[in-house]
Amino acid sequence: MRGFSIGRIAGIRIRIDWSWIIIFLLVAWTLAVGYFPVLFPTFSTAVNWLLGIISSLLLFASVLAHELAHSFVARSQGLPVESITLFVFGGVSEIEEEPRTAGNEFRMAFVGPLTSLVLAGVFWLIYLATGPNTSPLAAVVQYLAVINLALGLFNLVPGFPLDGGRVLRAILWAITDNLRRATRIASYVGQGFAFLLIFVGVALIFGGAFITGIWLAFIGWFLNNAASASYRELVVRQSLEGVPVRRLMATDVDRVAPSLTIQQMIDQYILSGRQHAYPVQTDGELVGLICLHDVRNVPQDARATTTVAEAMTPYDRLVTSSPDEDLASAVNKLGRGGYEQLPVLDSPHHLAGLLRRRDIINYLQVQSDLESPGERTNQRGQ
Ligand SMILES: [Zn+2]
Repeated sequence: MRGFSIGRIAGIRIRIDWSWIIIFLLVAWTLAVGYFPVLFPTFSTAVNWLLGIISSLLLFASVLAHELAHSFVARSQGLPVESITLFVFGGVSEIEEEPRTAGNEFRMAFVGPLTSLVLAGVFWLIYLATGPNTSPLAAVVQYLAVINLALGLFNLVPGFPLDGGRVLRAILWAITDNLRRATRIASYVGQGFAFLLIFVGVALIFGGAFITGIWLAFIGWFLNNAASASYRELVVRQSLEGVPVRRLMATDVDRVAPSLTIQQMIDQYILSGRQHAYPVQTDGELVGLICLHDVRNVPQDARATTTVAEAMTPYDRLVTSSPDEDLASAVNKLGRGGYEQLPVLDSPHHLAGLLRRRDIINYLQVQSDLESPGERTNQRGQ
């Protein structure tokens, strides 16, 4: 996700996605123009805008508190948390591993909506304590009480990947002892809820409530995508877990010498079309990796004079794997860097093979064909 970092809380990086800025402004604007003037007609325009911006910021803090609650519980159960990103629909905690037990998942998921509901209660108590309810403070805390209540309740909807869907998954997981089946059922419920939102949204659009209708339909569409993507992701991760990199790495790869010119390399190796990337070696020692992309970056007229050593990614900048690494973890590395392959080293500077993205994709394809015969026949033409 694109965005920027605004700092760390207890070691967790807090990031803001660009989409959140739009929501922030939209919320401030809606409150300043549509909400506060209606409920509190005595406020001036300037006060309404100020309240809109403050409320929007506190909404941001509320969403952040919700995500921090997930993250702290995750961390207390030994799951590392890298960062929290706030984006258009709220927040995502980037927790690097899935919970290991149903109990872990239950606590981790439930604490988020719980935090929102507690915040709603606290803001409501402040609202009650402000006495005659026409002050600017009352206006802000009343809004925050309502919005936190809505956040808590929406997230409790039992459709994966919403928090309530995770709670449901944890319960199903505990009952069936099968994470995959539990995820599948919870995703179906999530998709069902998503279609309901889309349906209601479309009905509202035809009924004349355009903006609300479009919003509901949009949230439904987003949830539907998230539900099916989360299930696919789990299936992929489960197929890769416990499989060592050595099972899939290619060992019969051509290697090139650093002194070769780019033109020689094109003529002798690249035109064969066998590999996307070539390990660069001198006397059996890996010194770098050169891929098609690096070659393309060398201008035509410089290819006869530029050497592989000048164009390659040098050894100390390479992201590598080892033969015993788990495929799930190696795939994370591929994904994070957007790489096509990882050099696999069995000792420093000693290449054991290349782990290529396309081999992993083939492997997953075969796995899925084996598991669901018939499901893909029309897609693959037998
Ligand atoms: Zn949550």
